[in-house]
Amino acid sequence: MKPLKPLDEALAELLGQAAPLAGADTVTTFDADGRVLAQDCTSVLHVPPQDNSSMDGYAVRCADVVAVGVELPVSQRIAAGSAGEPLQPGTAARIFTGAPVPEGADAILMQEDCEALADGRVRINAVPRPGQWIRRAGEDITRGAVVLQRGMRLTPAELGLAASIGLAQLQVARRPRVALFSTGDELVMPGDVPPEQMRPGAIYNSNRFFLRAMLLRLGCEVTDFGIVPDRRDATIDALRAASSAHDLILTSGGVSVGEEDHIKPAVESLGSLDLWQIAMKPGKPFAYGQIPRDNGRAHFMGLPGNPVSSFLTFALLVRPFVLRLQGVQSVAPQSIAARADFTWPKADKRREFLRVRHNATGGLDLFDNQSSGVLTSAAWGDGVVDNPAGQTIAPGDTVRFIAFSELLS
Ligand code: AMP
Ligand code: MG
Repeated sequence: MKPLKPLDEALAELLGQAAPLAGADTVTTFDADGRVLAQDCTSVLHVPPQDNSSMDGYAVRCADVVAVGVELPVSQRIAAGSAGEPLQPGTAARIFTGAPVPEGADAILMQEDCEALADGRVRINAVPRPGQWIRRAGEDITRGAVVLQRGMRLTPAELGLAASIGLAQLQVARRPRVALFSTGDELVMPGDVPPEQMRPGAIYNSNRFFLRAMLLRLGCEVTDFGIVPDRRDATIDALRAASSAHDLILTSGGVSVGEEDHIKPAVESLGSLDLWQIAMKPGKPFAYGQIPRDNGRAHFMGLPGNPVSSFLTFALLVRPFVLRLQGVQSVAPQSIAARADFTWPKADKRREFLRVRHNATGGLDLFDNQSSGVLTSAAWGDGVVDNPAGQTIAPGDTVRFIAFSELLS
């Protein structure tokens, strides 16, 4: 038997093939959530553009307020959106949150520390510290700063940041076009056959649903080719049809080496394929190949059929690959130290990804059935423990935890 391939090695080989796709889209900043920037965004202004008040109150010169109880005439009123006049010495300006601090003023007094007098003056009941309640120009972003970098995945905060430097449109990587199909004669689509009429041996196609959803979350355009029967000719036809217009063909099932597993010979008849036995559990079999076409080639990835194997090989291998196709540099999920509140008495020779969930005391509980067919574990859990090969776990041990948020988005 071939030696098992370490997961990191498999990932490095895949990423070595994931040349970023040519072409970018211009989208409105509104529509850019989840997309990957194809340009650096440099600010041509300070944010905020000028010193402004962070309180409703009064702008003063500190030199005019050296003791509690000073009374000053109110020489102007500055609301957000308007620019005041230079502050006359010996006067205060009524000012509101976000309004520019007038020239000459060097502190803001919050209105709670002031009393508006009947004669129009203001009595100041606190001695200001120079600079207090002033938000400085450029405190968030300075002019000339690269605020967002090419290769960055945009989230809501970045959209706001792009808008704050005046960008209404962004250049983003084009969406990878992914063809998805499921193999297996046992598979039936929910909705096609009601549960009580399922023939013996049939199961519903669950992988199709989570694979499609994960691809969409990663910014891919998905063409779903549905279920391909376990026949060599049908598999070849489906692959050929998919390869012409897609960057990646993703299949689930049929990558073992059983007689009913047609993926390997089918891809090989059209291009090339490596079938790997990866040292991870769940999820051992995984295939990577290429199918040539007029303008280059389509990547091929074959995932195992067992639902949890499919789920995790996607999360750990396909996800980084499709992110890299979009130009994302840091594609590794972040793991954090966590406390195991469970026992894992039997070490495995493969690196394991145990489905776990945080409990109320901050430790991790283990789902009681870690079988690769039990998809409930993935829905129950909030992440996985990345357990090295040969490692047992006792309660209280520190383990590496990877949150599903790191793997599924
Ligand atoms: P395979 O990798 O084709 O040998 O399939 C391994 C196991 O996963 C078998 O029990 C299959 O019935 C099951 N399986 C394969 N594809 C799917 C799917 N799309 N949805 C749910 N289970 C599947
Ligand atoms: Mg099968």
